[in-house]
Amino acid sequence: MFQTQKIPSTLLKIIAYQIHLPSNHKSIQKIEADIAKSISGYYGEKSIAYYINSIVNKNFEPVQNIYLNIYGRFFEIDALLVNDKFLLITEVKNHRDVVTIDHELGVMVQQGRRGEKTYQDPILQAEKQAQLLDMWLKNNGYDIPIEILAVFTNQNVVVKRPENGKLDSRIIYGYKLNQKYEEISKKYTNHPVLNDRYELINKILDDTRLFNKSLLKNYNLKMNDFMPGVTCPNCDRIGMVREKHKWRCLGCHHTDKYAHIRALKEYFLIFGPEITNKKAREWLGIESRYVAKYLLQQIAHKQVGKGRQTVYILNFDLQKDFNYLLEYNKKQYIEKLAL
Ligand SMILES: [Zn+2]
Repeated sequence: MFQTQKIPSTLLKIIAYQIHLPSNHKSIQKIEADIAKSISGYYGEKSIAYYINSIVNKNFEPVQNIYLNIYGRFFEIDALLVNDKFLLITEVKNHRDVVTIDHELGVMVQQGRRGEKTYQDPILQAEKQAQLLDMWLKNNGYDIPIEILAVFTNQNVVVKRPENGKLDSRIIYGYKLNQKYEEISKKYTNHPVLNDRYELINKILDDTRLFNKSLLKNYNLKMNDFMPGVTCPNCDRIGMVREKHKWRCLGCHHTDKYAHIRALKEYFLIFGPEITNKKAREWLGIESRYVAKYLLQQIAHKQVGKGRQTVYILNFDLQKDFNYLLEYNKKQYIEKLAL
């Protein structure tokens, strides 16, 4: 079954990076572009799950949120269907309104209420992914054909071609996914079968995990690039100050009893689950060992070691505890549109 609603951990991590990096940091533009891409991928996946689950012939395994690296070059695939004989990259498009795709120019133009917006031709995009995936496969000893589809999933979209232009037949509405999948399958009826597709899937997932682990390195980030501080839940300004039993924002004067939890969640995403009293004081911007100890003991999942060597282990649920980051991102996006 194709899983819906799964928030990619990479997305949460890079939103936490964005919050705690100075706005003039050299990697911030790349991070913001990747957040936008990942967000649209996330909502796109939610929207394609229905169509993937409606494919009648279930002789494939769906794999989501793939990040791979070939010769130092990273690429991302939102949804890949792994059949015994071929792989199918589905480039999901969740755009609404009128979308015109011009393969000659390599662009997709969306005409919406806010005017025109130009994107890359989804076929070009998927073909590039296919090319990189093919290199990755060969490098790992696999030789298996790759098919691509660009799938429009929004109920409120009309896809058009330019006058005198043709629309690539691999661009489809979600409704057609089942039929298209059948067509592609037929093409490969007599094609040799992959020995063990689960071995391939595991290899893909292993490399994706590796990407997640070295995320800081991939963005060229060092520990001391990050600005410590408790973020104000009201105005998102960083650096709330600790008063007796609560936090106060120096910007909007909002007070909050639990703002440190958010800060520790972000610490967890950026640096991992282990934290010491000293690190917590630096991150939260407090001086008292005792306050830090009190706060950590309330939140930490467990503690290891004794005295000054105590390490607290944070444990948050990626699927449940971080919705505020998606909300934060939405707010940022709306503010940008308003500018
Ligand atoms: Zn504030």
